[in-house]
Amino acid sequence: MLMRVQRGLSSLAVGAALAHVVLGGSRAWEAPLTHLISSERHQVNVDAAGHAIVDNATEAHLAKRYLSIQPSSGTSGFKIWPNSIISYCFETQDARDKLVEQLELAIETWRADGGGGPGLHRDVYKYMEVFDPGDDCVNNNQRDRVLVISYNSDGRLSTTIGMPSLDASNPSYKGPTMALSDAAGIGMLDTVANYAHEIGHAWGLYHEHQNINYWGPPYNTGTVGSVIFGDHFDCTVLKDYADALSRAQTGDTPSDVDLLCKLRGVAARYKFSAMDWLPVSGATRQHAGAGGAGKTTPDYTNVDWDSIMLYPSGAGATGTAVPPGGDSDKRANVLLRNDGARMKINLVPSALDIAGIKQLYEGDFGTGTGAFAGLPVMPNSKNSKWFSKFKDKFKKKKGC
Ligand SMILES: [Zn+2]
Repeated sequence: MLMRVQRGLSSLAVGAALAHVVLGGSRAWEAPLTHLISSERHQVNVDAAGHAIVDNATEAHLAKRYLSIQPSSGTSGFKIWPNSIISYCFETQDARDKLVEQLELAIETWRADGGGGPGLHRDVYKYMEVFDPGDDCVNNNQRDRVLVISYNSDGRLSTTIGMPSLDASNPSYKGPTMALSDAAGIGMLDTVANYAHEIGHAWGLYHEHQNINYWGPPYNTGTVGSVIFGDHFDCTVLKDYADALSRAQTGDTPSDVDLLCKLRGVAARYKFSAMDWLPVSGATRQHAGAGGAGKTTPDYTNVDWDSIMLYPSGAGATGTAVPPGGDSDKRANVLLRNDGARMKINLVPSALDIAGIKQLYEGDFGTGTGAFAGLPVMPNSKNSKWFSKFKDKFKKKKGC
């Protein structure tokens, strides 16, 4: 117990979502708690320094890219974790007991080199357990800036993206959450990999496949270029399709039935897991070089197929995948590439997953002189009235 702070979460960083709370994950696999979708479309291409660019060719060597939140200043919108420290706690002692070991292993996968350079350094990207499990964790006036980690046995994986701001229009949202499950046969079919995927959301990454530049009509009504997805998207094989369809059919908006599998906002309205496949139409940032627009032929090298933030084709689909393992994955295909290829299971973060988080935290929005305005005061900050308590706690637990 005394080693908790040092061992458990000494490092998670977060990214945020669009101007509203967005949870990564599908209902079958990663149940969203709240899902408000920005209707505005605002894509931002940035170079390695985070500056908007006009000419993708200048970053052509970065053929692949990540998709992350677009942090905003002020008191609303998406935030990243100040000082690249994820402050967290466990909802219950039971959750801690069941999760901490594999969560630590998942954190380690982000520290590894990702095959393309150094991972997230343990002294820079930190995870700090700031409250004891239980009531201390769930009920405190720092709730909006602490990641509350919960456990479930029914296969739900869900994490807020980055550190979403409180939103008066969404009073049920109290603060960042991460729901984890060690159920077999879900997601990447590997518990540690699933947790690593959720950690990616916590730092601020979206799903790689939800980049709107990869999608053609009717999923993308904007400028369409190099289309990678859209010819083989079958939302009817998602486990929660029948229930979602029923909700749409009995709702007040008949036209939603036809849009349930086409527009992310409509899928979200009926709490349908297609929302975690369909492209994000809000403000995002991404590596330049794979914008799609202007290209006339599909360029499959634009997608980071190794990303741990990319769903395998069967995620959330009907069919069995137990015991875990490649050949045992008999799940139906929700999404295939337009060339018919299936998306594989990725067990560790890719080099670009790591690059995406570093861009968020070490680029123009991270710590240091480039830090943007409106960062919240964290409980582990000297400016927090909780700091002395936090410090004592830290010291106490640092001993061994
Ligand atoms: Zn996810």
